[in-house]
Amino acid sequence: MENRFKSLSILGFQERFPDDDACYEYLMKLKWEEGFVCPHCGHAKYCKSKRKYDRQCTRCRSAISPTSQTLFHKLKFPILKAFYIVYYVSTNIKGISGTELSMKLDLRQKTCWSFKQKVMRAMPSSGDNKIGDKAEVNETVLGGQEEVEKGPKNNKKKLVVFAIQKKGKDIKSIYRKVIKESSSKELGGFMRTTIENTPDIKTDKWLGYAPLSKEFVNLS
Ligand SMILES: [Zn+2]
Repeated sequence: MENRFKSLSILGFQERFPDDDACYEYLMKLKWEEGFVCPHCGHAKYCKSKRKYDRQCTRCRSAISPTSQTLFHKLKFPILKAFYIVYYVSTNIKGISGTELSMKLDLRQKTCWSFKQKVMRAMPSSGDNKIGDKAEVNETVLGGQEEVEKGPKNNKKKLVVFAIQKKGKDIKSIYRKVIKESSSKELGGFMRTTIENTPDIKTDKWLGYAPLSKEFVNLS
């Protein structure tokens, strides 16, 4: 789902998801496009349930929500805002803090922060398709003010490395991973799982990349 969002501009996103209904309809389509099957008893017939978007199995009477087994299950805030968080998190290469999300969406900082963590855990850290054409690699520290406030013992600030696949000037896909340090070992480990050896790879010229140029031949 994050990947589907990446291709939308913010205007395109607003148009596609104007309200909560649009979000539920989107999830219903994803879930039941191929037809309904009750996850409890395998029955394929359903009727309307009390809640607007749920479907009720006509055999075992379970009500199934389109949000079940998704990030959006049992949300305590409007689903549209949750969709926005997914959008912002998956399209902001440098990361977006809970504070920023809180201001944009008029939600509590803690709510934004914990949903953001959920989204990030759900995002692929490496793909089946390694980047084979043109890549950019960089690192950044993620973690907003709210984490710092919890005290010095809290080390929620995370160093994240990104591999960005470029198509012309556009971003085709992004892989990311939390790493311990910007060492060649950590960076190389990540690059091996996300990028082929041959593409043009642009880095921020950090020393940690230097030893990797033997392996990734077009590294600059
Ligand atoms: Zn059933």
